[in-house]
Amino acid sequence: MSGQWLEVRLRAPGELAEAVAELFARYAPQGVVLEPEADRGRGTIIVRAFLEASSAPISRKKIEEGLWHMGQIQPLPDAEFEWIEDQDWLQSWKANYRPIPVGGRLLIHPPWMQSEDPERMPIILDPGMAFGTGAHPSTRLTLMALEGVLQDGDRLIDVGCGSGILSIAAARLGAAHCLGVDIDPRAIENARHNVDLNQVSGRVELRVGSLADLLPPAQPEPITAEVVVANILAKVLLRLLDEGLAQLLGPGGTLILSGILDSQMPAMRMACRAAGLQEWRELAEGEWRALVLKKTPPSAERTGSGASSR
Ligand code: SAH
Repeated sequence: MSGQWLEVRLRAPGELAEAVAELFARYAPQGVVLEPEADRGRGTIIVRAFLEASSAPISRKKIEEGLWHMGQIQPLPDAEFEWIEDQDWLQSWKANYRPIPVGGRLLIHPPWMQSEDPERMPIILDPGMAFGTGAHPSTRLTLMALEGVLQDGDRLIDVGCGSGILSIAAARLGAAHCLGVDIDPRAIENARHNVDLNQVSGRVELRVGSLADLLPPAQPEPITAEVVVANILAKVLLRLLDEGLAQLLGPGGTLILSGILDSQMPAMRMACRAAGLQEWRELAEGEWRALVLKKTPPSAERTGSGASSR
C-alpha cells in the first residue's frame, strides 16, 4: 500500500456521471467518488477515482478507450490524470465527498462519515461498483416520490435495484418488506453489502433476476406489493411495461417510474395508459422526469378524469 496512485478525474454531465463512474470502478478497486458541483443547476458531476500504480498505465489506456466510446454518443470532456502520494489520496477522497440530502427526510453518506444531520434519516452507501449513489437526478426523483407515497408497513418491489439505495430508503421510511431484483449479479452483491451496512437485512431481500422471475410462469401468481419502483433507462421501462410490470401492483398499488428524459415522456405516457395505469404525479429535475402511477380504477373510464381517454 505504499507509493503512488494515479488519480483520474472527469467533469461529467449529470446524465453520464454514473456511466463514467461505472467505467472507472472497473479499474479502481477502492471505488469511485461522485461530487455534484456547487452549481447544481448545471448538473455537472466530478467523477474521481484512484488507480493503483502497478496497473495504472493499462488502466489509463482502458479508461481512455472506454471514454472514447462513450463520447461517440454524447461529447465528454477529456479525463485528467495526476500522480499523487499514497497518504494524500484518502484525505482527498474524504475531504471531497459530501453527504447528499435527498427529498425532505433522507441523507446519503459514505460509511466513514457520521451523519451530522439528526433531522434526516441516514442511508449509508459505499460508493462502489453499482449504479445508485444518489448523485443521479433519476435516483433523487425516485427517492422523493418514495417519500411521498410509501406508508408504514407497505411492501416494496425494486426492479433494477443497483446499489440497493431505493430498498434501503424504503426500509428506513417504514416498509415492512422490500424485494430488490437486478440482472447484474455484481449489483446484487454490492446491494447486499449496503443493506448490511444499514442493518436492514431483515426487511430487504435481494435476488438476481428481473420482472419475468416475479410473474407466471416463474411464479404460480404474480408477486405483488403496495409500491413498485423501477429506475432504469426509458427503453427498458417500456419493455417492462409491455411485459406486465403493472401486474406487480397489489390493489390500490403505486408504481414509480424514473430514468425518463423529458423527450421520452409522450411514449412513456402512452405505454402507461396501455398498461392500465393512471398518472398520479410527475416529478422533474432538469430534463429528468419521474412518474407516479396507479392502476386505473374501472370507474375512471366513465368519469373521464383527464387523460384516460387517450
Ligand atoms: N435503483 C438504483 C439503480 C438504478 S440503475 C437507483 O435508483 O439508483 C438501473 C439498474 O437496473 C442497474 O443496476 C441495471 O443492472 C438494472 N437493470 C437493467 N435492466 C434491467 C432489467 N431488465 N431487469 C432488472 N434490472 C435491470
